Amino acid sequence: MNFSLTKEQQDIIKAARKFALGEFTDRAMEFDREEKFDLDLWRKACELGFVGTHIGEKYGGAGYGYFEECLINEEFWAVDPGIGSAILSTTFGAVLLELYGTDQQKETVLPKLVEGEVILGTAITEPDAGCDVTSAVTTAVKDGDEWILNGSKMFITNGTIANYILVFCQTDPENPSRHQRFSFILVPTDTPGYLANKLHGKLGIRASDTAEIALKDVRVSFENLVGKEGQGFYELMDFFNRTRLHVCAQAVGLARGALEESIHYTKGRRQFEQAIADFQVTQFKIAEMGTKIRAARNLYYEAAWKADQGKPDHALTAMAKWYTAKVAMECADEALQMHGGYGYIDEYKVQRLYRDAKILEIYEGTKEIEKTIVAKSLLK
Ligand SMILES: Cc1cc2nc3c(=O)[nH]c(=O)nc-3n(C[C@H](O)[C@H](O)[C@H](O)COP(=O)(O)OP(=O)(O)OC[C@H]3O[C@@H](n4cnc5c(N)ncnc54)[C@H](O)[C@@H]3O)c2cc1C
Repeated sequence: MNFSLTKEQQDIIKAARKFALGEFTDRAMEFDREEKFDLDLWRKACELGFVGTHIGEKYGGAGYGYFEECLINEEFWAVDPGIGSAILSTTFGAVLLELYGTDQQKETVLPKLVEGEVILGTAITEPDAGCDVTSAVTTAVKDGDEWILNGSKMFITNGTIANYILVFCQTDPENPSRHQRFSFILVPTDTPGYLANKLHGKLGIRASDTAEIALKDVRVSFENLVGKEGQGFYELMDFFNRTRLHVCAQAVGLARGALEESIHYTKGRRQFEQAIADFQVTQFKIAEMGTKIRAARNLYYEAAWKADQGKPDHALTAMAKWYTAKVAMECADEALQMHGGYGYIDEYKVQRLYRDAKILEIYEGTKEIEKTIVAKSLLK
């Protein structure tokens, strides 16, 4: 294992940071306040090659590893988590499609994701099925050469703007094993019966689209089955083992953004006739933030590196997922504290970081679920 970055990886970091600083900084407050997603900005990010970089060259992607994709996530989130999330989540589900989709599904969707022509989402969560994904009750029933889908999905990223949604649903509800009842089905969102309603008033990542979805007798071709019938649960776990790495990188990016803001602010803000950075209490906070960020980054680097070696380590990824999120929460909290009252106002970036951090402990596996995975592995 060697974490000295290659020249190409260093260039990816520089390019991603330059793009984010140039394009996100002046828009961040407005997009947060207005819950706005900018399609032109997303297309620009696609043109410059920042979106769907893990997608193979055969489908127009860069064919990068998860590691490189994590580096882009970290840079985008260090500048603005809301916009970073909105842009990079436009391919949410592409990993699943690439791992399990048919050639035709991949050829139809993947090149367009890279080119900025279509947006993908993945719908697992339901009003009564969150951490326990096996309690999902959305169904897909065979009718001739079609599937008919019925059900409701909750908190779906890109729900109102996606062109395709990968729907996690029961295709074999009578199977005695709860884990073998599910499959993924690719649903074009212009299919009659697909209804999405944007959710407003999120705490953070407000530039990202989140929706509730209703599926009412949605008919799609039998060929839209992704992966093996009845194996959807296992495919989902495999998918999360890889995409959770992105969330780790997002967390480290956010924590770094909080540290950068803190250093800048405390050097400029004077109280008791000195910069507040000169108080030892402030210095200790800065030292602790820097140390935690380094530790968190090393954890996710190792997990991403293993995934790229073809040996994803689910317990290590789970460790990285909860720990990086905790570091993000702690750094955002300390950063706001160091800004005092100014940090409480949304004109200051730290207020957004404080709100944006919380999602990292919730989506793609809550911190409790991640710790359960870690504990199971340690106690085995
Ligand atoms: C902004 C946003 C975007 C999202 N995007 C998507 C998306 O694109 N696609 C998608 O499918 N979903 C998405 N989600 C949903 C997200 O993945 C779920 O919110 C998450 O999985 C938790 O499910 P829940 O909210 O139903 O909480 P619940 O499952 O009801 O959990 C509530 C609390 O109970 C705890 N808990 C539950 N079970 C256990 C247990 N066994 N042991 C200990 N504690 C437990 C949880 O950790 C949590 O603290 C998104 C959510 C948000 C807020």
